Amino acid sequence: MDKARHPAPGIDYPRTFQEFDAWFCDEAACRDYIRRLRWPNGFICPLCGAGREPWDMSRGLLRCRACDGQVSLTAGTIFEGTRKPLRTWFLAIWFVTSQKNGVSALGLQRVLGLGSYQTAWTWLHKLRSAMVRPGCDCLAGEIEVDETYVGGPEEGRRGRGTQTKAIVAVAAEKHGKGIGRIRLRRIKDVSADSLLSFVQGTVANDATIHTDGWRGYAGLAALGYQHQVTTISASHEAAHELMPRVHMVASLLKRWLMGTLQGGVQPQHLDYYLDEFTFRFNRRPSRARGLLSYRLLQQALAVRPLPYHQIVAAKDHKLPLGPT
Ligand SMILES: [Zn+2]
Repeated sequence: MDKARHPAPGIDYPRTFQEFDAWFCDEAACRDYIRRLRWPNGFICPLCGAGREPWDMSRGLLRCRACDGQVSLTAGTIFEGTRKPLRTWFLAIWFVTSQKNGVSALGLQRVLGLGSYQTAWTWLHKLRSAMVRPGCDCLAGEIEVDETYVGGPEEGRRGRGTQTKAIVAVAAEKHGKGIGRIRLRRIKDVSADSLLSFVQGTVANDATIHTDGWRGYAGLAALGYQHQVTTISASHEAAHELMPRVHMVASLLKRWLMGTLQGGVQPQHLDYYLDEFTFRFNRRPSRARGLLSYRLLQQALAVRPLPYHQIVAAKDHKLPLGPT
């Protein structure tokens, strides 16, 4: 069993909103929880490595008894430098993970009473950055890989050229007749470069990869993968029957984007939505809302903060989403 699927030793999490509200009733409670999550086996000073319990200073600062250095509880997490209460962040995590379709920035702004839409929007994107689990966590076994096209007025997949749509590479583990874990990534084109680097970054190198006959995948065997090719035109079956898992994932993704974003997503930001979809999809056995929010909180503490300018880079291109 994957160790990371279980809460850290000695760490419990609230199961319902009532519990959540009671657990994280004030800043001290939120800070205490973060501290237990970051150092489940007791504080280790990141400056000197000493394992003595630190002094509690004000506002989330700890002072090491060994080296006298100051350590911020939120340094190196997505909460670093925030001027908003941690409780508000915790609530945001609860809302994002407890809504089936996630929340829009406007929805989050309303429910948390945030002063500006921009703050809500930035928070959502910071949280999404935490949905990608740090470190390589590659798909393994038998994998279907294909691309799908998201957004734009031209519907359906007509060849592999596109002007207005974003191209999303999809990898899905075969899990009996069902789907195991997935990976999604926006790619700039369907060249061998783009497709092979997607596969190399997401799939373990002893996996068996099932694709259609597109030449962009021809180099897989040379990279050491077992490559199983099904040529659609030579087959009597429709594409969705040959690669049922990636087709299912693509159609769920499009439906989710339509339901959550209602109208438009900027191609540069599509990456974040792909990360959120993947986070939710790969944790669909974690039906308990509390567990999903615990996961997100745990990962929020483990990722580097994302600078705002990096989130908003090239903000003005809107990519309309076509019907699914
Ligand atoms: Zn120290």
